[in-house]
Amino acid sequence: MFVALLNLLFPAVCSGCKGTLLESERLICTHCRHDMPFTQHYLNENNETAQKFRGRIPVEHASSVLYFNKDGIVQELIHNLKYRGKEEIGAIIGEWYVHDLKNVEALKSVTDIVPVPLHIKRFYKRGYNQITSFGLTLADGLGKTFNNTLLKRSTFAKTQTNKNRADRAEIIGNAFEINATQADNGKHFLIVDDVITTGATLEACAKALLKIPDAKVSIITIAYAQ
Ligand SMILES: [Zn+2]
Repeated sequence: MFVALLNLLFPAVCSGCKGTLLESERLICTHCRHDMPFTQHYLNENNETAQKFRGRIPVEHASSVLYFNKDGIVQELIHNLKYRGKEEIGAIIGEWYVHDLKNVEALKSVTDIVPVPLHIKRFYKRGYNQITSFGLTLADGLGKTFNNTLLKRSTFAKTQTNKNRADRAEIIGNAFEINATQADNGKHFLIVDDVITTGATLEACAKALLKIPDAKVSIITIAYAQ
């Protein structure tokens, strides 16, 4: 009743076209959802996201939910998720993707879903890690453990703005450390992040996790950018 009244006073609007949402719609209207640039590449082992890691690190599965279209709805959604506290965006996109991922054989052996950790300073400023809601939804839907204590940012990795490209790559490569015990040996970690661009951050996360004996990694991002 109260919710209905609130909706009447402040109708929920579509994040895409700003039209009023129906009661059954969440976040974006059915029309905009059909127009969204889903990659649909999760069953293709040689998809664009997987190609970013070829020759760099072994991954069991890699995919992205959507193509990142600059000035389009995906950029808008990611911006709202990251900077405007709209954590439910990650949960809703996660719900859409869980259905697809249930068909991916390579993900059946995943044990833990590991979010790319934020810098601690940024975490306190923002108050949340933008990828947590997406990771939790995948963990819940696929029946896996959400593990946000295993992977950490290294404390020595300082701001990178004044460094040249080679220095930056070096810093990113050492930016993560793990907090593993013997119980983590042989696990399959699914790393989740918001947008993949060069893949350097995800590669560094994977390398840190692959130091665990017999570990395997997979990677999923909400969006894929060229
Ligand atoms: Zn719309």
